[in-house]
Amino acid sequence: MNLILLGPPGSGKGTQAIRLQEADGLVQLSTGEMLRAAVASGSETGRLVGSIMEAGELVPDDIIVSMIDRRIDEPDCAGGFILDGFPRTLAQAEALDEMLARKARRLDAVIEIAVDDGALVERIAGRFSCAVCGAGYHRRFQPAAVEGVCDRCGATRFLQRPDDNEETVRTRLVAYHAQTEPLLPYYRARGILRSVDGMAGIDAVSTEIRAALGVSAA
Ligand code: AMP
Repeated sequence: MNLILLGPPGSGKGTQAIRLQEADGLVQLSTGEMLRAAVASGSETGRLVGSIMEAGELVPDDIIVSMIDRRIDEPDCAGGFILDGFPRTLAQAEALDEMLARKARRLDAVIEIAVDDGALVERIAGRFSCAVCGAGYHRRFQPAAVEGVCDRCGATRFLQRPDDNEETVRTRLVAYHAQTEPLLPYYRARGILRSVDGMAGIDAVSTEIRAALGVSAA
């Protein structure tokens, strides 16, 4: 099964993609993660995109499209993938259609995770992750069991993304409404769009997504 998770920053796409990955063996393809890895490695792409990401703006379509085009060909994607953070523009959506047709693959479903703008700033400004294993947390909604210690690996160092601050979140929301929201009617017209209520708790959203996809509970 090949899916897109669509929703504004902070809607929980990454959290839900990881759950689907663990339960169903689909591979999470997060363009944000790929770009952060490129920035950390100091590659040519990383140098090009770092300041764009810190400003909360969108990276040029050609960089993103070629990144995904190569990644989908890797063997771990053969059993299905979850696109998390891609496509974010109509040009990216059209490029995805073209590349899937070329690879004789298809898109099975697009899940919209709908969240009110008002909730997103608090959700994003409270996020942090383990500096060692990358496990994601939230100060209020998903704290570590023992404060200051990673549940998954026991590390005690944590990181906050440089673009997870209030000012940048507002720019990211503007980009979402202007450039990404037009994808909803694009996929609705194809009959593959399903919407879930992203204001519900993490487990309830997972259940709704599984119901929308017609897969049994994890
Ligand atoms: P995310 O981790 O999905 O919130 O993405 C973080 C940042 O990476 C975004 O604010 C953009 O600057 C950039 N980015 C990620 N995915 C895309 C995409 N599909 N198109 C353009 N820019 C992207």
